Amino acid sequence: MKEDIKAYNNVLGLIGNTPLIKLNKVTENIEGNFYAKVEAFNPGHSTKDRIALYIIEEAEKQGILTPGDTIIETTSGNTGFSLAMVSIIKGYNCILAVSSKSSMDKIDMLRSLGAKVYICPAHVSADDERSYYNVAKRLHEEIKGSVYINQYFNQLNIDAHYKTTGPEIWEQTNGKITHLVACSGTGGTISGAAKFLKEKNPNIRILGVDAFGSVLKKYHETKEFDAEEIYPYRIEGLGKNLIPTATDFDVIDHFMKVTDEESAHTTREIAKREGLFVGYTSGAVMQAIKQYAEQGEFNENSNVIAIFPDHGSRYMSKVFSDEWMNEQGFFDTKNQEEAQKIEI
Ligand code: PMP
Repeated sequence: MKEDIKAYNNVLGLIGNTPLIKLNKVTENIEGNFYAKVEAFNPGHSTKDRIALYIIEEAEKQGILTPGDTIIETTSGNTGFSLAMVSIIKGYNCILAVSSKSSMDKIDMLRSLGAKVYICPAHVSADDERSYYNVAKRLHEEIKGSVYINQYFNQLNIDAHYKTTGPEIWEQTNGKITHLVACSGTGGTISGAAKFLKEKNPNIRILGVDAFGSVLKKYHETKEFDAEEIYPYRIEGLGKNLIPTATDFDVIDHFMKVTDEESAHTTREIAKREGLFVGYTSGAVMQAIKQYAEQGEFNENSNVIAIFPDHGSRYMSKVFSDEWMNEQGFFDTKNQEEAQKIEI
């Protein structure tokens, strides 16, 4: 009796409708009510499932994609995982050009899902022929019947969150949300969700999170691209060395920069104190909330939604490795500084 069986037709049916989970301990000294939208509950364990499914289905609707075609993308890992997952179910080949900054866990996962992975140097400029942008572009030109997802410059990235993440948050909070706090990488999540929420209530504060070493915050404030802002940093998926058109800077009220070190400690704190095993950028969002709170952003009536983009399992060899933390000098920085002085 097939119709009596309660089952999803395939894994794609589980994308979206992620839960809000109240944060109780990491926010205990901050005024307001804080809830995390935990995107790790997507089947691909990140928010990128939403855009992978949405962009591929839009291309199918327009007749651009037919089974057997090839999907190409640049990705820090999460988008690649989601595209590989959707490609398997829908019968596409998947080729991914990734940054050498991505963790080996992520790259192995992509290969496990049948994707072909090209690892490209992280610290070259976007216009360098070795950059993952140019590698992806070249492959797209060479491979017939290929689609380049181009998440940093694809309006459908914003639309995916306008159609899903934004409405879910509005419904889950019964319209009582006062602040949205989210990372900006491509900017799709914050821009799409914010666009929907601001249409419902323009007073909702949209607070972005950026990395030191990224150009986004300065661009938001000055409308100028300042290459001097760029330097290497550790957090994957947060901030950028170019200005993505998938970011709608007008719907974002403010950006806060966070450090690699504080975000790493906060990521570990979320796991230890909330039992929520989430990724490095979730720690970055939480770290930004602490800093926004210090600036007096929230009060007892604030209902703050924090987007936690992915799952902690992707960072076992990084933030959740004591050895890695030590190598970065993130354990007891002061002693490290003293040790360096002695060596000199
Ligand atoms: N966190 C992680 C772990 C990511 O991979 C990304 C995407 N690059 C983001 C946050 C930022 O999301 P968005 O690209 O929608 O701005």
